[in-house]
Amino acid sequence: MGSLARKINAYFLYLAIPLWVPYMVMYGVNVQLLVITLILYQLTGCGISVGYHRMLTHRAIDPHPTVKYFLTVLGMICMQGPPSHWVRIHKLHHGRADKAGDPHSPKDGFWHAQCGWVVKLKQSKNDTKKSGKILTVYDRQYYWWALGAGLAPLLWSVEAFVYLTLLRVFLVAHSTWIVNSWCHLGRIKNSTLLAIICCGEGYHKNHHDKPRAARLGRIDLGYCLMRLLGCRTLYH
Ligand SMILES: [Zn+2]
Ligand SMILES: [Zn+2]
Repeated sequence: MGSLARKINAYFLYLAIPLWVPYMVMYGVNVQLLVITLILYQLTGCGISVGYHRMLTHRAIDPHPTVKYFLTVLGMICMQGPPSHWVRIHKLHHGRADKAGDPHSPKDGFWHAQCGWVVKLKQSKNDTKKSGKILTVYDRQYYWWALGAGLAPLLWSVEAFVYLTLLRVFLVAHSTWIVNSWCHLGRIKNSTLLAIICCGEGYHKNHHDKPRAARLGRIDLGYCLMRLLGCRTLYH
């Protein structure tokens, strides 16, 4: 991922997306679009939780190639960067959790862990060079899927774009990031509330204890989706 492209992607997540706030203040809340957005938030959030995280980073599941592609696309349309970039950052986190070199530890400040790290992060030459064939293929398609899915709601209306792109991507980004901040605040911990709103990712201590386990805890929407899609789990 080029340095400029990464910066643009990061600032879009960081600055442009909260534009849904003044829009709703000015025009009120469209309940129908809000409900669709919350459903898509959970579904595409599973793209990050199951696709990017448990499948591509930890290889906890080995699904059929079509399912693998589907889960990766769900992750790509959350605009958190190309798969190899996300995988590299997350592996750094596991290797250095709350020590020097952890990209998003709350020991460097809560807001740094929540979202500040996204724009401070340095580009690595390893982003694409060592990512392997399949991740390289996905990386090449990243902007097509992210931009295509991001702009598609404009075919419906500007209001649909505000909800289905800006609000949805904002919610998925912060639900991903709050696991980095809250679940590492003080010590690594589990949070059932965060598990409910973050596709099971709130069971973060369980995850650090067994990074390759497909199921993270009792209430785990990501795991339900894996079962629904018939994914073969490799570790329990
Ligand atoms: Zn962690
Ligand atoms: Zn992990």
